[in-house]
Amino acid sequence: MKRSKIILSPHCDDALLALGGSIQLWQPCPITVLTLFGTCAWTVGDSKSHKEITALNRKEEKLALSAAGCASVCLEYKEVLLRGYSEWNAVPGKSDSILQNQLERELLEKIPSRSEVYIPLAIGGHTDHVLTRNAALKLSERLRKKLCSIYLYEDLPYAWYEDVVSHALRLPVQDKPILMDIHRVIESKIKLIANYKTQIGPDEINKVNGYARSIIENRIMERLWQLKE
Ligand SMILES: [Zn+2]
Repeated sequence: MKRSKIILSPHCDDALLALGGSIQLWQPCPITVLTLFGTCAWTVGDSKSHKEITALNRKEEKLALSAAGCASVCLEYKEVLLRGYSEWNAVPGKSDSILQNQLERELLEKIPSRSEVYIPLAIGGHTDHVLTRNAALKLSERLRKKLCSIYLYEDLPYAWYEDVVSHALRLPVQDKPILMDIHRVIESKIKLIANYKTQIGPDEINKVNGYARSIIENRIMERLWQLKE
């Protein structure tokens, strides 16, 4: 029996954007996507109220994750633009440190013992990704006591713009990343992420596709970084 996996997804779509290929390669395996900020104020389409966008985005997430064979748990924390910030990559204020404590408690309760835990590297500095990563890293000792291992994934489409390797190596990760060859499943990864019509247009799809081909020349990859034991 494979160890169960739990992927911490700051928003609906982050797990499949970053790991939509690996998830398919891991199947059959118990995989749960735990979305923390399951609310949404922004869309690539025509503007709507955040309640309407959130409802659509949740439907997209349900559809995409069930197609990927994942269980889904969606929490309703307010995303950064609904917490009074005007920028998606705002520096977390005082109220966010209270929020981070809340996230830590929630994660500790929801992450099962002996699981593999996948968390964002927070490439691009999206405030909600940073909070998710920091909450999980803060728990790393306690998660190890629960016999969990922790891996960091490369946030997309942000990884397209950034020096990902330098970013990863500033964290306490093992020097050698884990490479997942997703060439057999890239087409179905693209189909999975195209479900998120409120969030992902042709431009984002091109970046996800291009990034997979940029990690190693002539290969199509996703990459993970294991936290040092
Ligand atoms: Zn996100």
